[in-house]
Amino acid sequence: MKTIKKINPAAPKKTDIKKSAAEKSAPVKFCDSKTTVAELKSVMKNFVNEREWEKYHDPKNLSMSIAIEAAELMELFQWIKNEEAMAVTKDSPLYMEACDEISDIILYCLSLANVLKIDLASAISNKVVKNVKKYPKDICRGDYKKPHKTAPAVD
Ligand SMILES: [Mg+2]
Repeated sequence: MKTIKKINPAAPKKTDIKKSAAEKSAPVKFCDSKTTVAELKSVMKNFVNEREWEKYHDPKNLSMSIAIEAAELMELFQWIKNEEAMAVTKDSPLYMEACDEISDIILYCLSLANVLKIDLASAISNKVVKNVKKYPKDICRGDYKKPHKTAPAVD
């Protein structure tokens, strides 16, 4: 007796569900203590390349996307009190949503760094040096104001 194999035309073909190179090569989990910035930049670069999205990932679009994702992060905390925001725990939905939005922001930053060929670790270390000079710890400790704004205004 011959069995008839039912074929679902809507089912994905085996070739459609093959994992992409980035999905295969991506570690199961990244973690801050073991993942380098270069690895993260590479994952984002592969993600963009595999989708042929280079044409969309230009500095204008990416800088706008960073701002849009930052707004999405702010929206999560928009109407809640600080006490509620500070009480967020790892198992709360807000925590997971914040993780997603922070990741969106950073992924776009990584892509912008790829496009502009910015060495992020160098850029960050240079900026930290500038910030240390701009906000001397002896003047700024416990005071969030910029040093030049701490002096009384002269009219
Ligand atoms: Mg988002």
